[in-house]
Amino acid sequence: MNHYEARILKLQKRIQRIEENPDPTKLKSNRIRYEIQLEETQEQLAAWREGRPFSDGGGSFMAGPLARAMGFAPMGSVGVAIGATEPEKYLEISRSKGLPVDNACDMTSIPFAMQECGAVPLEDLAVCDPHSCTVMCLAAIYLSLTHTKDRFTYYLDVGLEENEANLRHVTNQLEEFIEFAEKTFPGKIRYNEEKLSEMQSYEEAARKLLYEIYELRRHIPSPIAGKDIFTGGFGASTAKGLEYIQTRRDEIAERVEKGLAGVPGEKLRLLWTVTRPFFMDPFEVLAKRKAAVVFYYSGPTWRDIPFSRPSYWGDRELSPLEKVAADAISSRYRTPSTTWIKEILKVSRDFQIDGIINYNMVGCTATLGFKKLLEDAVEEELDIPTLQLEGKQWDRSYANEAIISAKLDEFAQICLNRIHQ
Ligand code: SF4
Repeated sequence: MNHYEARILKLQKRIQRIEENPDPTKLKSNRIRYEIQLEETQEQLAAWREGRPFSDGGGSFMAGPLARAMGFAPMGSVGVAIGATEPEKYLEISRSKGLPVDNACDMTSIPFAMQECGAVPLEDLAVCDPHSCTVMCLAAIYLSLTHTKDRFTYYLDVGLEENEANLRHVTNQLEEFIEFAEKTFPGKIRYNEEKLSEMQSYEEAARKLLYEIYELRRHIPSPIAGKDIFTGGFGASTAKGLEYIQTRRDEIAERVEKGLAGVPGEKLRLLWTVTRPFFMDPFEVLAKRKAAVVFYYSGPTWRDIPFSRPSYWGDRELSPLEKVAADAISSRYRTPSTTWIKEILKVSRDFQIDGIINYNMVGCTATLGFKKLLEDAVEEELDIPTLQLEGKQWDRSYANEAIISAKLDEFAQICLNRIHQ
């Protein structure tokens, strides 16, 4: 059974479980999210069988929506690893091929192994760019060198500056990228601007709802917590994606009105950063101390935050391609650490946060460099503690469930003591 077949079965079971026996502590609108994931996985499986070219366009923070509008089947970027049904097997394959799995981000090592062993197809056109998940780019380059026939790695240069010159620089490259892809996959790949524009109109409608959700979520006690916090940052580029965000907004509003809490009896409000261990539920450990994780700040979730949207293009309306470029430039995987710190401080004030869990993902080239800067800023400006929690995402050989649970429990006690001092 390949990855898509296994994932389809898993998602079907999840949907059935929500229908028959919903978990009262989780949002019911998750069902729509699983249905969207199921439809996408079914599309991927069909595309593989039909021989449609695969490309992720470098992910949702680069040219992901553009690749979709050109007719590529979605590769899933790092999402394919988050949904992996046999992560440890893939980590072993990456190790055996020489990737530095033990010292690097394990999540970005997995898609490479999944392609190498045939669990998913080899990506036909892998896009690399100067965002910080280094292993992902190395793996794409390795695959294009070792499986050369009709397979390509394409580099897009995205500068750090949020200004008109950079916007033009990236847009020009996107135009060249389209030309290259259409020539390389004749009859299969064709840029459809109308489709891109339609996808962007859903995204824009969803963004307004996400800003409403942000305000609703500031409520004390938090209407949602734990895993439901981590499902923010969801790209809604289809009618069903927009329906999901609308239903989520309505459900959260209803929970606020009824005074329902993600963690009943909430005593602590925590903010979690970067990523988390996917082999365990860290939120249950915290919930035992009545500690609720009420916000998750990371690369993709900046889209949920009302004050974070830049507008270096002024008042003029951007073309669909310029919008792709603007999103790529604004990606929080590319901005300086000062942006992360500034936004974490603002969210922490808005949400009246009592403590921060900064997940020190071993080998994360995007975030480890500023952990001390963040901790100092949080202590100085908010007078709240930070837990620098070291761990990985799928690989439990570094820090297992028991180690992580003990550290979380201890941190919750420290925060509670500080509140009651
Ligand atoms: S941001 Fe860090 S943890 Fe997340 S995928 Fe990139 S390298 Fe891995």
